[in-house]
Amino acid sequence: MRLHNSLSRRVEDVVPVDGRTVKIYSCGPTVYRHIHIGNFRSFMLGDLIRRAAKFEGLDARLVMNITDVGHMTDEVTDSGRDKMELAESDEGLSAAQIAEKYTEAFLADGDLLNIGRADVYPRATEHIPQMISIIQTLIGNGHAYEVDGAVYYDVRSFPDYGKLSGNTLEALRAGHRQEVEVDPNKRNPEDFALWKKAGPGRALKWDSPWGPGFPGWHIECSAMSMEHLGKRFDVHTGGNDNKFPHHEDEIAQSEGAVGHAVVSIWVHGGFLQMGGQKMAKSAQNIRRVSDLAEHGLDPLAYRLLCFGTRYRNEIDFSWDALEAANHRLGTLRRRMAQWRPEQGAIDAPELTMVEEELDQRFRRTVAEDLDMPQAMVVVNELLGADLDPFRRYVLLKRWDEVLGLDLERTALEGFEIPPEVHELMRRRDEARLAKDYPTSDAIRDQLTSMGYEVMDSPEGTTVRPRT
Ligand code: AMP
Ligand code: ZN
Repeated sequence: MRLHNSLSRRVEDVVPVDGRTVKIYSCGPTVYRHIHIGNFRSFMLGDLIRRAAKFEGLDARLVMNITDVGHMTDEVTDSGRDKMELAESDEGLSAAQIAEKYTEAFLADGDLLNIGRADVYPRATEHIPQMISIIQTLIGNGHAYEVDGAVYYDVRSFPDYGKLSGNTLEALRAGHRQEVEVDPNKRNPEDFALWKKAGPGRALKWDSPWGPGFPGWHIECSAMSMEHLGKRFDVHTGGNDNKFPHHEDEIAQSEGAVGHAVVSIWVHGGFLQMGGQKMAKSAQNIRRVSDLAEHGLDPLAYRLLCFGTRYRNEIDFSWDALEAANHRLGTLRRRMAQWRPEQGAIDAPELTMVEEELDQRFRRTVAEDLDMPQAMVVVNELLGADLDPFRRYVLLKRWDEVLGLDLERTALEGFEIPPEVHELMRRRDEARLAKDYPTSDAIRDQLTSMGYEVMDSPEGTTVRPRT
């Protein structure tokens, strides 16, 4: 399996450092508001990598943090208000209640998108001691300094600063950032806060060796990733905007503390746009998973829509495209229902050379940096090819482990049968019971002409749409 590494800017082999399990850390949500489908595009990425790894026969472990403190409204200049406290005053709930409310909603919406749950969801507020310990190490080895109850990272102490995002110190200085007001406590304008002093009125705060305060956002991910995956792990994901400053600073912190590279491959996902603008609460163009259902669309149609574009590229969201994906999903599920053998699961059949080749091609495209658009081309080929229905069913069912589109749903749940068809089925059963075969046959013909295949079962008449 190969993934594009934002750090080396190359597609690289995923080789688990422990030789067995692909360890993945995904930057998770800040739980102060509802998570939108743009966020979920990024969250899908970690799960997709885990699914692809398992498909390759590897073990995988996924950790996704929950940020419930420390993410400021302006992370670049380290100022603004804590997002959690902002919501607290807006909603009249405590920060803990807000975190609880939006974490639950996040998990429920993720379920609707078939985003497999992470193996662990560490919370920032439950890892303050680990953060303090890393900060102490960084002060001890000269990467950080304390000023008046706050601790800053000295970016000049880390020569590799900028290696991920290209925002080296020279690049930052040449940019416009000098114009913003510089915190006089900082040695260099580019230094960033590891620990912030709690101002008056701040509720979310902890005791520390530097007095009462709270952690910066970036130190959370250094602490939680190393706590749950160790000091060397394989894959770290996030949306494109996480590259700077969040992940650039995480690298400086983690590598500064342990003295070696921690993450092998950094994977960043492209943004979901809406009308040419990135989907964001501030742009007031967000859509939630529940909005999809309100439009009568299956949330998994959004998954299928995302598979139409490589994960690193942007997607421009439109309802038309989503409706087309929804229609396509329905077709795939109906075909699965047709191909599914009456008796359900049967042992895996021997595949022909053509089928084997399709299967290999599907696997290769997924393993090659998650080329989902190409994988969907292979799915289309399977649909169009003249193959044995049962083996088509077996292949698609297997591929659905990666796709996560619940392709068997229609087969398992039954079709949506319109009321008038139900009525005809009922009348046919009545006629058959009365041994009125001419009527029963006439109704069968009528159902056939309406596009249904009619079958007799011990429970009476059953139908399935012909496609
Ligand atoms: P936040 O809760 O603001 O920390 O964002 C959570 C995740 O969503 C981060 O990994 C962001 O990179 C990602 N994200 C935010 N907006 C979008 C978007 N429009 N499309 C894709 N990912 C996004
Ligand atoms: Zn993070």
